Amino acid sequence: MSKRGCGSRVNNGLYLSVATSEFGRPVEHFLLDPPKPYVGKPFRTPIIIAGKKVNHIMIYVGKEFYPFVSDYMEESRCQGISRRIPKSFPFERLTPFESRMFFVHERAIPLFGHDTGRECPRKINHSHKPGDTCVFDLWHLSALERIKDKHEVSIIDEDHAGIQTPSVKYSVNLPRMPPVNLDKKTIYKYQTGIFAAFWVGHLEYVNKQKKIPESLKRRVKNTEFDIRALEE
Ligand SMILES: [Zn+2]
Repeated sequence: MSKRGCGSRVNNGLYLSVATSEFGRPVEHFLLDPPKPYVGKPFRTPIIIAGKKVNHIMIYVGKEFYPFVSDYMEESRCQGISRRIPKSFPFERLTPFESRMFFVHERAIPLFGHDTGRECPRKINHSHKPGDTCVFDLWHLSALERIKDKHEVSIIDEDHAGIQTPSVKYSVNLPRMPPVNLDKKTIYKYQTGIFAAFWVGHLEYVNKQKKIPESLKRRVKNTEFDIRALEE
């Protein structure tokens, strides 16, 4: 079984999934650039946001599991995205492939001066002020802080660092400013923001016998959702 930053999947757990491969696009495509500030408290259960035509869903990615946005996105690149929802969750209010799944993280918008020396891949001329920072810079800025076991940083050479999380390994560029000094243990301030928007895909039910409860099957039948039973 592949390891996830948030631990293994729960038996008899219901998951809302995104299938990025169905769109044939890399995860970068779904990043919001610049990330949008989010004002509100952290929440555990995903929130449904009423829309004009279809509703959307907001998901909070906890920094205790994924210290940086890049940690979450790099795991998603390898393992896809699925989010556990309570069985009582009103998924009927969502429309597969039309409802969007917005992701919130507490380190989405850097509140400190920075220069990664990288051009925005979308050629946006960012001011780099809060509200207009480049989402792609978050990868390189994550080299500034080491978080034990969750986000280990190792300097490769004067331009690159390697990041190791419980599930993935990836490399980033060392920012020009602020300079990386891991011994100093500086804590950089960020603002909470929405950093990605995927489309709601299908439902997954984890069960060792690959059995879906009848009541759940009935509920799904009345929607456009597809539900897949998985062992884990
Ligand atoms: Zn950008």
